[in-house]
Amino acid sequence: MKKLSLVVPCYNEEESIPLFYRTVSKVIDSMNTPTPTVEPEYIFVDDGSSDHTLKEMKELHQNHPETVHYRSFSRNFGKESALAAGLQATTGDMVAVMDVDLQDPPELLPQMVDLIENDDYDCVGTIQKERRGQSKLRAFLSSSFYRVINKISDVRIEPNARDYRLMTRQFVDTVTSLPEFNRFSKGIFSWVGFKTTYLTYESQPRAAGTTHWNLRQLFAYSIEGIIDFSNAPLRLATWVGSISFFLSIIGIIFVIVRALTVGGAVAGWPSLVAIMLFIGGIQLFCLGILGQYINKIYLETKHRPKYIVREEE
Ligand code: UDP
Ligand code: MG
Repeated sequence: MKKLSLVVPCYNEEESIPLFYRTVSKVIDSMNTPTPTVEPEYIFVDDGSSDHTLKEMKELHQNHPETVHYRSFSRNFGKESALAAGLQATTGDMVAVMDVDLQDPPELLPQMVDLIENDDYDCVGTIQKERRGQSKLRAFLSSSFYRVINKISDVRIEPNARDYRLMTRQFVDTVTSLPEFNRFSKGIFSWVGFKTTYLTYESQPRAAGTTHWNLRQLFAYSIEGIIDFSNAPLRLATWVGSISFFLSIIGIIFVIVRALTVGGAVAGWPSLVAIMLFIGGIQLFCLGILGQYINKIYLETKHRPKYIVREEE
C-alpha cells in the first residue's frame, strides 16, 4: 500500500477545515474500496491564522492521531512558506498539495495517482479552465502575465496552472532541497524538471470563507515571479541604456557639425531640459530594476528561515 501525503496550507480557514477533511476522506475511502490502495497522511499548515484554524486542526489530530498532523507558524509567512513547511514534513510515497477551500477538486486524486503509478509520471499538475465570474481585466492581466513570463524566463509556466498537484517522493525531495528564500513555487516546480502532465478541470467556487488575494497582491506576485526566474529586466536596462547612449552620440555629432557649418545662437533650452529629464528617468528606471535584484540577493544572504514553527504534532 502506498502512502499518500496531503499538504494543506490554511490561513484563517476555520470553516473550511472540517469540510475539507470530510470531503477528502470520502474520496480516499472510495480509492480504498474494494481493495486498500493508499494510506493517507494529512499535513495541515496553519499560516499564522488569527481565527480558530489551529483549534480545528488540533481537534482533527485528536480524532485521527495517526493520519492528521499539523504545523502552526508563529505569524503569517504566506502560502509559499506554508507549502515549503508542509512538503518538508511529508513522509508519503506520493505528495499532493491542495487548498483547503475545496477549489481543488479531490475527485481528481484517483486519476492523478493512477497517472503517477501506471504512466510513469513524476508530477501531475492541474489547470483551471477560465474562471466564471472573473472580471475581464483580471483575465486579461493574468493571460498577459503568462505570456510575458513564458517569453522571458528560463522556465515554462503553464498558464492557469493551480498549485494543486501530485508529486513523487523524489520530486518533492528535489523541491525541498532547493535552499532559496524567495520561493515562487510555480517556477520551482517547473525548474526541477522531471516528467509532468496536466489535468484540466472546471473552476470551483470557494467552499467557505473568502479569497486572500487582491489585484495589487497578484501584481506584486507576478513581478516576483519574473524577477525570480528571469534576468530579462536587467537585459532591458542594459539595452535602454545602450540605445540612449547611441542616440546621444548622434546628437553630439549633429550639434558639432551644425556649429561648424551653420554656427548660430544658443537655443533650445526647453529641449535640453526635456532631454535631461528623459535621461534621468531612464537612469532611475534602470536603477530600480537593479534594486529589485539586489533586494533579492539581500534577502537570500540574510539566511533567515522561510518560516518559524510555533507548535506542531
Ligand atoms: N493561504 C495561506 N497563506 C496565506 C494566504 C493563503 O496559507 O497567506 C492558503 C489559503 O488558506 C488557501 C490557499 O492558500 O488554502 C489558497 O488561498 P485562496 O483560496 O485565498 O487563493 P485563491 O484560491 O483565491 O487563489
Ligand atoms: Mg481558493
